[in-house]
Amino acid sequence: MNEFEIIKRYFAPLSGKGSFGLKDDAALLPSRPGHELVVTTDTISQGVDFFAFDPADSVAQKALRVNLSDLAAKGAEPACYLLNISLPGNVTPDWLAAFSMGLARDQEHFGVSLLGGDTGSGDGLLSITITAFGYVPEGKMLTRSGARVGDSVYVTGTIGDSGGGLAIFKREKHALSDADRDYLTTRYRLPQPPVTLIPKLRAIARSSVDVSDGLIADLGHIASASGARIVVEGERVPLSAPLRALWGGNTLRRAVIAGDDYQTAFTAPPGRQGPFTEIGRVEAGEGVGFFLNGREVSISKAGYSHF
Ligand code: ADP
Ligand code: MG
Repeated sequence: MNEFEIIKRYFAPLSGKGSFGLKDDAALLPSRPGHELVVTTDTISQGVDFFAFDPADSVAQKALRVNLSDLAAKGAEPACYLLNISLPGNVTPDWLAAFSMGLARDQEHFGVSLLGGDTGSGDGLLSITITAFGYVPEGKMLTRSGARVGDSVYVTGTIGDSGGGLAIFKREKHALSDADRDYLTTRYRLPQPPVTLIPKLRAIARSSVDVSDGLIADLGHIASASGARIVVEGERVPLSAPLRALWGGNTLRRAVIAGDDYQTAFTAPPGRQGPFTEIGRVEAGEGVGFFLNGREVSISKAGYSHF
């Protein structure tokens, strides 16, 4: 199959408003009156963000969801995306069918459509770049810089599960039940960005960051952008039972520096209620302080970094 057959067969059925069915040179981004367009892009690479043995549908879904996670953290409603993919020479029709099926499933689930992209071939490892667009009411994009002294710090979901799944794939020894193991490996393969919380985030958050490189490292971005200090009370960080079963007494220490959470950490006035957890507060100063039972402890590594 050549590039055009691949586009027509596997990608055109995913195309939406403004895409001209992927039959033109470019696309139109639909505008939404009273809104601004928020754009983000992320690449996932074989061997780094997914494994060669991961199912093609979940690879596609991960590529999309890591972008939806950035949009969620900015309070933007996801709308459409571009897909740039460099296919290895041995890619099969089955793989492409499963890949596009994964995208179709998530398009339905998150209400997004494909606008365009580029398809190439390479001998290298598979890598997929998605650029996603979302809308926020004018002036309402959440940034990392809005934290105020006296705010509380909150996080959605549970922290470290994906890191646990990765550890399992890397053959770390464990005695987990099948259900616990599947829960964690699925968290690694299929991020759960807090897309349903977007309106709530916009309503209450003063600053917000995507948690993808490790909770502590990403809270550090809010601290430096906002010119404030973030204090995390370690015992309040939400951890899942399967992760505790995997990492025991080391769970918290490992979870807060594990990457790939794709949850949102944000600051807002204290006492906010919702499907998220209050884990600390914003103080005058700089950096992130990590406390356990009222005492500050040091976290050895600032989180995952590529270089
Ligand atoms: P160009 O010659 O400018 O690179 P292409 O022939 O690659 O254009 O693309 C033709 C159409 O197919 C365009 O609308 C482009 O956006 C779309 N397209 C190509 N690859 C993909 C892809 N992987 N996903 C979605 N759309 C794609
Ligand atoms: Mg092209």
